[in-house]
Amino acid sequence: MGAPKAAVPFVSLLAASFVLAASVLAQPGPPAESGSFRAPDLVELISLDPTIRLDVRYATPDNFVKRAVYAEARAFLQRPAAEALARVHRELGKKGYGIVVFDGYRPWSVTKVFWDLTPESDKDFVADPKTGSRHNRGCAVDVSLFELSTGKVVEMPSAYDEPTARSYPTFEGGEKAARERRDVLRKAMEKESFFVLPWEWWHFDYKDWASYPIQNVAFSEIPRVDASRVAYLPQTLDLASARIVDLTYAFDERTIYWPNAKTSFVKQRDFYGKTEGGWFYSSNTICTPEHGGTHFDAPIHFSEGKESTADVPVGQLIGAAVVIDVTAQAAKDRDYRLTADDVKAWEARNGRIPKGAIVLLRTGWGSRYPDRKSYLGDDTPGKTTDLHFPSFGKEAAILLIRERRAGVIGVDTASIDHGPSADFVVHQIAGAASVAGLENVARLEELPETGAFVVALPMKIAGGSGGPLRVVALIPR
Ligand SMILES: [Zn+2]
Ligand SMILES: [Zn+2]
Repeated sequence: MGAPKAAVPFVSLLAASFVLAASVLAQPGPPAESGSFRAPDLVELISLDPTIRLDVRYATPDNFVKRAVYAEARAFLQRPAAEALARVHRELGKKGYGIVVFDGYRPWSVTKVFWDLTPESDKDFVADPKTGSRHNRGCAVDVSLFELSTGKVVEMPSAYDEPTARSYPTFEGGEKAARERRDVLRKAMEKESFFVLPWEWWHFDYKDWASYPIQNVAFSEIPRVDASRVAYLPQTLDLASARIVDLTYAFDERTIYWPNAKTSFVKQRDFYGKTEGGWFYSSNTICTPEHGGTHFDAPIHFSEGKESTADVPVGQLIGAAVVIDVTAQAAKDRDYRLTADDVKAWEARNGRIPKGAIVLLRTGWGSRYPDRKSYLGDDTPGKTTDLHFPSFGKEAAILLIRERRAGVIGVDTASIDHGPSADFVVHQIAGAASVAGLENVARLEELPETGAFVVALPMKIAGGSGGPLRVVALIPR
């Protein structure tokens, strides 16, 4: 919406289809605009932050024209506006809310459809296609709030697109709590230079709307972003103020490998000392199995034909970290497996795990490293049948990988499957979904449940099934 000041017309479906057919003939195209404009750069909102919720009403019959006018439920804004909205979404997170988007950029042809569907007597209430709307410029957005703890869209003083005075952002009636939520939204939006429409609490124009031209690009012409591969990147990460935690154990003679590994970490000195030329020089040769110490599991480790270490896109290995803690459960049961209920309990506190997240399981096992017996449960060389340590469980892995579409899962124990596992089912689920694993991750106790940003880069071994990993977390202060 954007133009209605009071009432929104009722339009019958019969009339709608007639007018729609006629409009195709009468339709000259978007207005010619003079002046210079910025180059349009429409950005799909979920590509900036996949936790922004979409409820694109015009892609459903649940809107004032009672029919779907968008073929796809997608939302776009010009880049500066999109980035500002992502900042609003993150800022609201501190208050326990997220942004839900009803509508953003709207092709001009849809504004024309709304116009044609509206009877003459009500034409004051919709945008005239002769001038277009700010939605056509990719600088207007219709939004509300959802609650992070429940995932539910909040009650506001009016419904979206409701044609009554309750929709005014200044409306003083109704429930106080609803008005307060409306004002929380408005304040957060205004801080990022969005301005509310005086008759619609949900409609905000971005300050630079006049700098962008009216566009008539269909959603289908804008390339789709695979949200599962969007690293959940913070828009601003201040490296100068972020705390950096190295989540990596050093490789040395104590590095823990799987008990049946044929070799362990070998570092041979090639040279150390003064050269004939008079300068100092040192150099070693190293040799290591791929799977040991803080290391990486490539999808091909348990899934034929999937990505090797060098093939996993780097963007998948850089992203927001979700830390799920089962220290208490693991202290009682050293074979503990993360359950789907544990994941849901985490989400009840922190909101839905975003697509592409790096999910780290904290069991408290880090304090046992590198004591083999304590860490693995058994230190008999070659024996793998009496291992006891906690990790992910099958149902949790299915939820995290197939439903939430995590990009990486990692753990502070020796394997993403728990010690007694004989079928390595979590490895199989991860590999089949091209999800990478991180094992023997250090210092997880220093990470918050949310808010950390992880960079997990393995040695780039062509055709590798895994490899030594350097993994760090950046925690904004
Ligand atoms: Zn491994
Ligand atoms: Zn593994």
